[in-house]
Amino acid sequence: RFAYVNGRFVRHGEAAVHIEDRGYQLADGVYEVWAVFGGKLADAAGHFARLWRSLDALKIAHPMSEKALTVVLREAIRRNKVVEGMVYLQVTRGVAPRDHAFPNPAVPPAVVITAKRVDRAVAEAKAAKGQSVVTVPETRWGRCDIKSIGLLPNALAKQVAREHGAVEAWFVDEMGLVTEGASSNAWIVDAEGRLRTRDTQANILRGITRSSLLDVIAEAGLPVAEQPFTVEEAKAAREAFITGAGTLVLPIVRVDGAQIGDGAPGPVATRLRRLYIERAKAAAI
Ligand code: PLP
Repeated sequence: RFAYVNGRFVRHGEAAVHIEDRGYQLADGVYEVWAVFGGKLADAAGHFARLWRSLDALKIAHPMSEKALTVVLREAIRRNKVVEGMVYLQVTRGVAPRDHAFPNPAVPPAVVITAKRVDRAVAEAKAAKGQSVVTVPETRWGRCDIKSIGLLPNALAKQVAREHGAVEAWFVDEMGLVTEGASSNAWIVDAEGRLRTRDTQANILRGITRSSLLDVIAEAGLPVAEQPFTVEEAKAAREAFITGAGTLVLPIVRVDGAQIGDGAPGPVATRLRRLYIERAKAAAI
């Protein structure tokens, strides 16, 4: 078998993509699958239209024209001697140092194509017999508690932040409550002077920095409530900050353009950053 990888056909068993391909690290890519009948692409126009739509929605450049792609897909079918089967195409945003936001300047999208045979006799026998299904809850994109590499929504959110000159994007749920950042947990010091961060029963990532900081806060005897806050509460807060292994404790002075407090890092966030770093340094192994 042969696979097409970024411009050339290679042996399927040796086909590989770079470890910093954004598809591998962030699920930042799209795919299409065509059925192959008699060595030809089925529903070709529909699959191409959806491919362009998916790429455009993610602002990934078209790797080649429809005409050129048709040639390569047919070549994949031919080289793999597929008469009855399927052809798979994957396009990712490309290879770049890991960062949720899009590479700037953009890099060429990465393209992989594979083709495989399907035994139509077996498929027909299955169809003739009739098959069964089971039901599962609709949880797609709903398991934010898992530190999954399915980071496409996070990558798109971080890109919005970058485009607005912000370091982070805060996700807001249907109740208007902040859940967490694209790669950090969200905190405020509310108008009453209480530290607030969303509880982890709700569907957010259990930040390790968040958890350590709660210990620091307890040791310092500061008032804290694991309660979610609205965007309005954040804008009216005395202070705001984010936590994560990448940012540690990072003061936030603007939310959607609105100034927090006096527009400078507040005393609580500044102190917590120092205390967190001291504690983490002392306990590092
Ligand atoms: N929330 C999300 C969605 C994250 O991706 C991260 C870290 O990358 C965090 C929170 C913070 O977690 P931690 O403190 O364990 O780095």
